[in-house]
Amino acid sequence: MRKYVVAGNWKMNKKASESGSLASEIVKLAESSSHVEVVVCPPYTSIAAVAESLKGSAVKLGAQDAHWEESGAFTGKISVSMLKDSGVEYIILGHSEQRIYFDETDENVNKKAKATLAANLTPIICVGETLEEREAEETKAVVKEQLNGAYAGISDEDAEKTIIAYEPIWAIGTGLTATAEQAQEIHGYIRGLLTEKFGSVSAAKVRIQYGGSMKPENAAELLSQPDIDGGLIGGASLKADSFIGIIQAVKS
Ligand code: PEP
Repeated sequence: MRKYVVAGNWKMNKKASESGSLASEIVKLAESSSHVEVVVCPPYTSIAAVAESLKGSAVKLGAQDAHWEESGAFTGKISVSMLKDSGVEYIILGHSEQRIYFDETDENVNKKAKATLAANLTPIICVGETLEEREAEETKAVVKEQLNGAYAGISDEDAEKTIIAYEPIWAIGTGLTATAEQAQEIHGYIRGLLTEKFGSVSAAKVRIQYGGSMKPENAAELLSQPDIDGGLIGGASLKADSFIGIIQAVKS
């Protein structure tokens, strides 16, 4: 059976003590379930505190970016192995905020994905179009280019271990959500691209999350679509009750 994956992207929010408390609350409320994997991705400064709160629970720890080099003169950067050493198991890559504000490129997302896979961690590779691109009917072309870039040189076996987050940029933090039909259309398209690249067996194993103003009220409908395998949650992951509400929607 497919295991859904729901990940909270806390972005640049919460100091270490606040993060530790939120993680503890989530642990208390999230009963472990064989069909939902729950991940929280705090800022780097909170990773140690959150790791402590998650100890002994089924909730997993993620990070919001990583550098592809192992170590060296890269001021301000954190490597995959440093994150692994701190208990991180998932790394969000190519988030639209990284692409828009910090010039993230598909080429760098590819290097980061390879470094993440080489460390046996799980990359969550984000793709998605702007409103202008959607209105110009370029959504599929944009997503295809992002995926081709991110997966260049990645084997079928490694591709299976990745997670993709389809996040229409116009739906992130805006309260606008893609309808279940709009989201499924692109998720199905992504599954088709993965099938062309890696074959149907590997493509079926890649979990494709939806991200963009997902909340307890709209989660069940989105998650009932055949190619929506979970969610990447921003705003609604900053409060334990709304995050748990989404996890419960998966279970229902
Ligand atoms: C995100 O930034 O990954 C996201 C989905 O944010 P929000 O849920 O706030 O739209």
